[in-house]
Amino acid sequence: MKDLMEAPFMVEMIRTLTNMYGHGWDERNGGNVSLMLEDDAVSEYLDPSRVIRTLETGFSEPSLDGRTFLVTGTGKYFKNVQYAPDVNLGIVRLRDEGRLADLLWGFTDGGLFTSEFPAHMMSHAARLKVDPKNRVIMHCHPSNLLAMTYVHSLNERDFTRTLWQMCTECIVVFPDGVNVLPWMVCGTNEIGLATAEKMKTARLTVWAQHGIYGAGRDLDETFGLIETAEKGAEIYLKIAHLPVLQTITDEDLHLLEKRFNVKGREGFLD
Ligand SMILES: [Zn+2]
Repeated sequence: MKDLMEAPFMVEMIRTLTNMYGHGWDERNGGNVSLMLEDDAVSEYLDPSRVIRTLETGFSEPSLDGRTFLVTGTGKYFKNVQYAPDVNLGIVRLRDEGRLADLLWGFTDGGLFTSEFPAHMMSHAARLKVDPKNRVIMHCHPSNLLAMTYVHSLNERDFTRTLWQMCTECIVVFPDGVNVLPWMVCGTNEIGLATAEKMKTARLTVWAQHGIYGAGRDLDETFGLIETAEKGAEIYLKIAHLPVLQTITDEDLHLLEKRFNVKGREGFLD
């Protein structure tokens, strides 16, 4: 067996979580990330038949049966992951229609996966139906996006348009726009189902007064997606109280669509 600590997926996961903490997106135990692993990749580093513990997930998601995930632990701090990955992360494989998760590695202090596991798994299932190459669900608390949900309309078209107008690259990076959920209690199957529903039409879903969910094909892409939306929100908060003399118009946004061969979300541009 190869050394799991040298697996590209593990190295990249630890670097990404450390970077997220460095950006101030994951205070204390805030945030959670799950990465779906390919079976071949896992078996190079682990014996997939060796189950350490079996955990109940509290939900059912038959489409993910047999799928394996590297996921952050509940109550764990992103800042500590690089020093003790085996305590703060776990590798689990779902079975019994997603109701059970076999722990193959990690959570060595007896810990569990993130309390947002339902939202992650339901979002994975939803995104995989739209994009079979989706592998990552990422949740964090970027300050500017969070602040924006206090002072900006939560209408998805309005919220998306504002972000698109704040930096030229926004519409190129997230042409599918941003979906928004009103404030809800987190860690429940209800918010999981609501998030998964939103994930059918966009890779970003803002949780008002809480944070954001992002989905993507790899950790870099998903990180970059959130980073770009957060930059848009930062610019918005810098100018929201000032008289705006010029902006990126819908005409400009159409030019960007043409230049970068993307299509803004249907009905979001005039
Ligand atoms: Zn959160």
